[in-house]
Amino acid sequence: MSEFSQKQSNTVSSFDVHSIKADFPILQQQVNGHPLVYLDNAATTQKPEMVIEAISHYYRHDNANVHRGSHTLSDRATARFESARDAVAGFINSPASCQVIWVRGVTEGINLVAHSWGRSNLQAGDKVLVPWLEHHADIVPWQLVCAERGAELVPIPILDSGDIDLDAFAELLDERVKMVALNHVSNALGTVNPVAEIIRQAHAVGAKVLLDGAQAIAHYPVDVQALDCDFYTFSGHKLFGPTGIGVLWGKQALLDAMPPFLGGGEMIQTVSFSGSTFNCLPFKFEAGTPHIAGAIGLAAAISYLQGIDRVGAAAHEAMLLDYTLALAADIDGLQRIGAPRQAASIFSFLLAGSHPSDLGMLLDQQGIAVRTGQHCAQPLMARLGVPGTARASYSIYNTREDVDALMVGIRKAKSLFG
Ligand code: PLP
Repeated sequence: MSEFSQKQSNTVSSFDVHSIKADFPILQQQVNGHPLVYLDNAATTQKPEMVIEAISHYYRHDNANVHRGSHTLSDRATARFESARDAVAGFINSPASCQVIWVRGVTEGINLVAHSWGRSNLQAGDKVLVPWLEHHADIVPWQLVCAERGAELVPIPILDSGDIDLDAFAELLDERVKMVALNHVSNALGTVNPVAEIIRQAHAVGAKVLLDGAQAIAHYPVDVQALDCDFYTFSGHKLFGPTGIGVLWGKQALLDAMPPFLGGGEMIQTVSFSGSTFNCLPFKFEAGTPHIAGAIGLAAAISYLQGIDRVGAAAHEAMLLDYTLALAADIDGLQRIGAPRQAASIFSFLLAGSHPSDLGMLLDQQGIAVRTGQHCAQPLMARLGVPGTARASYSIYNTREDVDALMVGIRKAKSLFG
């Protein structure tokens, strides 16, 4: 159980999973003749009515382009778009809203840092460290920029449990390390990384730290100032918001010093054929028409989350994982992959005698949605010596009955696979 969820044992929880579930219209349906059991939340979360309504309201009443109109609708759209930025800033405790850059998601956030910060800060002989646990989104952009700059991308070893090997990490650290980029929580195994300690050690050798918050943001409170990370990025769609919108947060001095990533309208101050000058933060990094409805939908998702008992929600999710592990222990041949010291509500598993994708199909026939495969983490799968896994990832609206259904589904699959 996380520190955050442990706190709830001292308080009276107002968290009620059934009323939360009722807020998500998509969950009230049958799939393949069974009530939908949606356990693919690490891939994307479902959207509460409030988010759907905010997006619909925007298109019905306020739709216009932002920052450039001299008419009422454009003023309204701009006000709502910029207040969404303020909402994100408050949610992650950013010192200023201009440090919140809209991106499409974590993938673009990391690419922005790799290409803008990386190109202007990495030299031949420098190193970028990423744990063996990483999603491809936190490997490939660094590979590209390291190849271009003559720098080296070095994987940080992990233990069989799926935890980062902190001794090996300490040994890799020296003044040639310029960036440590890692996920806050692993999408494949649920490992909650000890980011505070990693940031402290990385800063001690002068390295910057980028945290990929894709899997953390919906489950734990994120305070970028308390973390003291240099960059933090997350995707709206994993936080009950729309796809195509996400956030890159950075320390202001770093963002100010970084060159633009994409060029075009909005990000400039002046343009002439002899050269261009660039806008201030955050606009310097926001070329072109942004995903206005996405930002408004994300703000609605944040407002939704701020309206529920998040400590109670975290305790509920921790309970779901504990309950899963207890039930799974009674099924012969069901193997949990990874056993991190601290785990988010993600259960990665294999069933003896079956391929994860066949298992996924059989579960789907029973209305149970899990993800199967390599979870965009091929190096991790190779390191663990598995072809992939099946993954059940829980969210605030999942119930104990959902876990029961998963176990019934696995037992049924086991009997079919023999
Ligand atoms: N990083 C992690 C840990 C993820 O889980 C994901 C998505 O699954 C990503 C990065 C990429 O996120 P997106 O596809 O929203 O850019």
